[in-house]
Amino acid sequence: MKAVHKKMKKTFREKVVNKFSGIMKKNRLLKYPCLFVMTVILTIYYICMHFATNVKRYVCIAFSLVFFMSSCSFSFAVLSGQQGFINAQETYNAIVEDSDVELAVEKEVTPDESLLPDTDGALHEFADSEETDGTDFYTLDDILEDTQSYEYGNENVDNSEEEISEEVMPEEQEPVFDSSDWRLVLVNKQHPIPDDYSFSLGIIKDYMRCDKRIIADTIAMLQAAKEDGITLQIQSPYRTDDRQEYNFNKKIKMYMSQGYSYMDAYKTTSQVVTVPGASEHQIGLALDITSDTYTQLERGFGDTEAGKWLVEHSCEYGFILRYPEGKEYITGIIYEPWHFRYVGKDAATVIMQENICLEEFWDKYL
Ligand code: ZN
Repeated sequence: MKAVHKKMKKTFREKVVNKFSGIMKKNRLLKYPCLFVMTVILTIYYICMHFATNVKRYVCIAFSLVFFMSSCSFSFAVLSGQQGFINAQETYNAIVEDSDVELAVEKEVTPDESLLPDTDGALHEFADSEETDGTDFYTLDDILEDTQSYEYGNENVDNSEEEISEEVMPEEQEPVFDSSDWRLVLVNKQHPIPDDYSFSLGIIKDYMRCDKRIIADTIAMLQAAKEDGITLQIQSPYRTDDRQEYNFNKKIKMYMSQGYSYMDAYKTTSQVVTVPGASEHQIGLALDITSDTYTQLERGFGDTEAGKWLVEHSCEYGFILRYPEGKEYITGIIYEPWHFRYVGKDAATVIMQENICLEEFWDKYL
């Protein structure tokens, strides 16, 4: 076989050389163009011969690459996202209802039980639950119970020294968005929290915190919902980096105990829990919101009156439904009808009206 190739190589090379030598002898002006063309032809020929003689080796490399890409959803979320979500969805309900649900309570903090809503007895279990499957909810009334400092309609919060900046735009003018605007910061698997990102925490109630610049709008939204007869409850707003990491690793272990390989467990976990360093809860701009009649962080919340009210009105207070249904292959996170992200009123209005997600907003406007 090799001998045949050698013979073919020689024959072909000689044919090419003879052909071009003839042309060059006839016309000396064509010497350099002929040398160039001859070199190119022979180079291509030798490359093809190389691949032909090493075909098995290259097929193996190609298969290895395809296998690696298909098993790394966290690296290539868009490529493998669709199929991955089907698998995630199957196990999702059986295992845990939400990426966020376990994170609500910091272990070292002992919340005051008297602050818990009376209606939900199950909540009282949370303080001694190692799994922290229970969580802590605060409604508008709870938040205002012992805090007289919030004034509706006033953008100032008394623990905030900073004015909440509302860019007032003339009616006809298209809003202009700035990629350095803190409200628009994009945080996801591909865009971890920037190293230089800084913010100040404000207190919602007790140990429940979020970026202090969004508290006034949050209170205004709860108030507006209340006026429409809907009692919203906030849970799990700001979350520490350690807590996010703890939760992520715990979920991986849970999947592995069910027979998943580490890679599969990581892949599935990354679709239901945000990767540490990539959660909006870590920068205090995300709130998980439910209602007094539906307290679970589950898909069903989207079908409740409160869920529908939020989709319709949250943008008026600067919030968006961050992980909408049908956008999973872009956001990399399953549909979460309870997870709302603050982006400011202008951006929120555009995002909700155009039915796009924050990633698409960035592509289009920033
Ligand atoms: Zn959340």
